[in-house]
Amino acid sequence: MSEPTRRPDGRQKSGGAIPGLLKGLATTAKTLGRPSHTAEYPDAPPHLPPRSRGVIALTEENCTSCMLCARECPDWCIYIDSHKETIPSPTPGGRERQRNVLDRFAIDFSLCMYCGICIEVCPFDALHWSPEFEYSELDIRDLLHEKGRLGQWMATVPPPAALDPGSAEAGEIAAANKPARVPRAAAAPATSRPAAASRVARERPARPEAPGNIPPDSVSTEPLPTAQNPPTTGSPGTKSEEGEA
Ligand code: SF4
Ligand code: SF4
Repeated sequence: MSEPTRRPDGRQKSGGAIPGLLKGLATTAKTLGRPSHTAEYPDAPPHLPPRSRGVIALTEENCTSCMLCARECPDWCIYIDSHKETIPSPTPGGRERQRNVLDRFAIDFSLCMYCGICIEVCPFDALHWSPEFEYSELDIRDLLHEKGRLGQWMATVPPPAALDPGSAEAGEIAAANKPARVPRAAAAPATSRPAAASRVARERPARPEAPGNIPPDSVSTEPLPTAQNPPTTGSPGTKSEEGEA
């Protein structure tokens, strides 16, 4: 006679074949009406997040052949060739300059582990993640993408996500886009200024002490009082009582 089966913890297993079968049928009946979670790829494409790491795209114009990405790549799967080119000075009499011209840029996706370090370290935004993932090949050597193919992936790179409104960068951009403050008088429309000026003139009488508002016949021709010519009556700039009388 065989001994009853025991669990690893020493407890004896309960039930037999019939209860187990019933339990399995109950689970089947319970999940029978639920919708399926299986994506029928490739008929139904998967809904991936927009920033998924599918393939690396290259903007060739931004690349300066600085080799930072190739040096930081932990798999050594980035290959860059370049040569130097002399370009004339943009200003007359200036010194000639040299710049790197990219001859080859390739990534071997059979070695790449999609860590994203190359994209992070690139100081010129030449590398970007694309969510495109359907580039499997029958021959592993075809997973070496040269710069032409890496450039084609740029069409599948989504636009950058919007900045968090509370971030420092968003505040800097908002401050840079804010229109400069102009004085109210300068900001008022040109057509409204004469009307406003005439309304002010109607409501407020002209100040007689203003130099432009003093009639010419009321201007005194006497010399201004000085130390050699002290005022006789009153204080400088005021009418004397004798004159009024
Ligand atoms: S993602 Fe990582 S492994 Fe792949 S090329 Fe860039 S640095 Fe190298
Ligand atoms: S780090 Fe950027 S700019 Fe420098 S070689 Fe790599 S892709 Fe080009």
